[in-house]
Amino acid sequence: MKFILTKELGRLTRWLRLLGYDTVYFDSDDMKLIFVTAFNESRIVITKRVKLTNMKHLKVVHVRGDLLKKQISEIKKKIRLRLSDKTLLTRCSECNEPVFKINKVSIRTLVPEYVFKTQKNFFQCPSCAKIFWKATHWDNAKEFAHEICS
Ligand SMILES: [Zn+2]
Repeated sequence: MKFILTKELGRLTRWLRLLGYDTVYFDSDDMKLIFVTAFNESRIVITKRVKLTNMKHLKVVHVRGDLLKKQISEIKKKIRLRLSDKTLLTRCSECNEPVFKINKVSIRTLVPEYVFKTQKNFFQCPSCAKIFWKATHWDNAKEFAHEICS
């Protein structure tokens, strides 16, 4: 399941990526282009724009809420979001790229010493080179994800 979100849903985009979903953030008002992208890449459109809900041949989820939790609960009425420890935090929340595990020794000087000492696994985004370790967002993300996916 892959998504494309219109530009008013930036926060939701990052959260779907944190859950592990391939999520394109569509930062344009060109509605024809969003149609083409969604159609070609078989993406489900999530939007607050009523106009898009009438598009044929596309699966569109219309959200009305402004708060993230409300938006997720609206999506859940239409789509079954799944949560798995295996997919949680496997994708860069900024770039949508799958992150890869990196050799701990190689990033010694790039992370705080305390983090280096206490963490075992580190991941890096191939696009922005940001380094992730699960303690940073892990507990919050997990708690939140369980709440929204249950
Ligand atoms: Zn990135």
